[in-house]
Amino acid sequence: MQVASCESGSNGHLKGFAQWRLWVSRGLKWDRLPQALTYSERPSLALACDRKRGIIISMSYPASYFRLSMFRQCRQRYKLHYVDGLAQEYRKARPYLTMGEHVHGALRDLFLLSVGERSEDRLIELMRDRWRKNREGFADREEEKVYGERATGQLRRFAQKEDLAIQPLAVEDNHKVEIDDTLALLGRIDRIDRDGEGLHIIDYKTGSPREPDPLQLQMYALIVVREFDPAPIRASYHYLETGEWITEEATGETMARALEDVRQRVAAIAAEREYPASPGPLCGYCDFLEICRGGEDFLESHPRTPGEEPPLQ
Ligand code: SF4
Repeated sequence: MQVASCESGSNGHLKGFAQWRLWVSRGLKWDRLPQALTYSERPSLALACDRKRGIIISMSYPASYFRLSMFRQCRQRYKLHYVDGLAQEYRKARPYLTMGEHVHGALRDLFLLSVGERSEDRLIELMRDRWRKNREGFADREEEKVYGERATGQLRRFAQKEDLAIQPLAVEDNHKVEIDDTLALLGRIDRIDRDGEGLHIIDYKTGSPREPDPLQLQMYALIVVREFDPAPIRASYHYLETGEWITEEATGETMARALEDVRQRVAAIAAEREYPASPGPLCGYCDFLEICRGGEDFLESHPRTPGEEPPLQ
């Protein structure tokens, strides 16, 4: 059994206990556990290592939609981000991300106010307060102005069309639920309401409406059903640019299918050894472009249209 190797420090293809101690002392990261381990062996081994140190570390795979979709988009990008831990070093500020952060933040701040304090002007004020503190990623004042006007338009439309008096159960919270010893689901959910029809999960999109990926909402539903209660759940993307809502039901069946999808994706991640690059249109938004030959070559032969934005916002 692989766990024995942690206790005894030796076992064929695994490295010795000293090496394990090193991993543990550096802070175990799921993706950095030796590839020799299978997906289901990792938590047991981690637990055995934890017992040696007398501390508990969860070793379930932390599956967020962002993480799973990055692996699907480009395995090399996933490796650079999660396995090699280079995300912070290569992080690039982007105008659409800064705008998105401020719009989401202002909506969060608004629903934390008492109902009497909420208004369209207050919402814009909240966004501007945030904007003054973070103005990174814009090429120049002109570009910043364009994004600022876009953010203002999205929030004004929201304030004029949507119910500002609603009292959400949660806004912009980070959630984590353990599904079992091997898998945890993580998600930052923009808003959760309870209304006459049950629970309603809302994910704001500041980008243009596109074909939605149902997995994201179903993953949120899997989290909410465990954190709150098994009331009927609806989940929506709300496109702030147009005011459009795309809503779907989360039933036992849809959530079971989503969980199976997540498990298959996680198993593929655990089995990955090579992490090949997948050059494509999204390379233009990849923080690792400067160290990725495949991405650079792709963009040389497929120049981007100025102002284009990626779908993940
Ligand atoms: S630049 Fe493109 S191919 Fe290279 S890591 Fe990023 S997404 Fe993958």
